[in-house]
Amino acid sequence: MELSSTLQEEFDIVVRRNPGEAEFHQAVREVLESLAPVIDKHPEYVESGIIPRVCEPNRQIIFKVNWQDDRGRVHTNRGFRVQFNSALGPYKGGLRFHPSVYLGIIKFLGFEQIFKNALTGMPIGGGKGGSDFDPKGRSDNEIMRFCQSFMTELSGHIGADVDVPAGDIGVGGREIGYLFGQYKKLTGRYESGVLTGKAIGIGGSRARTEATGYGTVYFANEMLKLSGESFDGKKVVVSGSGNVATYAVEKVNQLGGTVVAMSDSAGYIVDESGLDFEQIRELKEVRRGRISEYVDANPSARFIADGSIWDVPCAIALPCATQNELNIGGARALIKNGCTLVAEGANMPSTPDAIRAFTSNGVRFAPGKAANAGGVATSALEMQQNASRDSWSFDHTEARLHEIMVGIHARCYETAEEYGTPGDYVMGANIASFLRVADAMMALGVI
Ligand code: GLU
Repeated sequence: MELSSTLQEEFDIVVRRNPGEAEFHQAVREVLESLAPVIDKHPEYVESGIIPRVCEPNRQIIFKVNWQDDRGRVHTNRGFRVQFNSALGPYKGGLRFHPSVYLGIIKFLGFEQIFKNALTGMPIGGGKGGSDFDPKGRSDNEIMRFCQSFMTELSGHIGADVDVPAGDIGVGGREIGYLFGQYKKLTGRYESGVLTGKAIGIGGSRARTEATGYGTVYFANEMLKLSGESFDGKKVVVSGSGNVATYAVEKVNQLGGTVVAMSDSAGYIVDESGLDFEQIRELKEVRRGRISEYVDANPSARFIADGSIWDVPCAIALPCATQNELNIGGARALIKNGCTLVAEGANMPSTPDAIRAFTSNGVRFAPGKAANAGGVATSALEMQQNASRDSWSFDHTEARLHEIMVGIHARCYETAEEYGTPGDYVMGANIASFLRVADAMMALGVI
């Protein structure tokens, strides 16, 4: 899609100032592509430099993380925290531990997080962090030592009213526990609200683990309702097998759908009769195994090492693995096989040409910053519980999550209508969230 001359100029500046950060460029471009009608209506945003200001992180922290493995060998990784925008509240966003992490990945995630967090309607800014540390195959003690070393540097930059990290790929309850333990030791404070995604026993929120996956399914369900449909009886493909994918499977099952395929970086499993949530949960959360092991106890399931999960026929696809996992080839296969709805549980899993293929072929499409916002929204609920030293029931927290996802869907849908692009959730999400961030920035003045 072409950009107007003003927006193209802004985009060129971002590319020039952030060389080699392809994912960051992609995320910025997608937002700018939605903003033409906004700046027509609000020239004051251009006047106040809101676009270049929102594209430049407030602060980028890069640090060395030394740690010792079980054999005593010393390793050196790189740690990041990008504090992107705090117009709406303290920086908020996860930490990703994965070998693919570099500054461009953290910046794309931090940029997305600003708008995702704005969509939740809650008082949270946007940030992201992580490391190129590879947790795969590491012992529990190695993970602990890495987390402690990572927090030794990070602790000086975060705080319940400053910046509140959480999990992302490679960072779950275990890692958050070790990070929180080290923060507590270094500061001497039991500052619960400094991290979210904690275990229940150390101030975590019920339903946080489930929230991103559940939220994605709730969002898709709202889209289906508009045409009088539901998940009932529908075949669903869920890529990934982490936290988001696992709990998307549970919620699809609860709503009467059948998940026929899941994946990890080694390949995918497929079972036409439907995957068993409890077995998947046990395999991934308790045994920390690979998805291929599922077939050992399930003779009707097959593991396919070389191929694309998007070749599996389905009515609904939920990409819940990682960025750019669903490209034009995958999109064409889904369209050919009759898929009518795609909702992103991961951050930016669909490439721009895949998204164009969906929209031009009438496939309903929900971008991650709207459809996966349930995770961070429940993190904000965890912050609320911590601030009031309270602990809510699972049912109450899930009901709040549901209400928030219904609200995000409505905001995206109505904004798309208002700006003349009915049914375009990318436009709706980008515009609704940008307006909220831009108004807050205007109110705060030039700071
Ligand atoms: N990493 C998650 C996301 O991409 C959650 C962040 C959080 O809970 O702060 O939104």
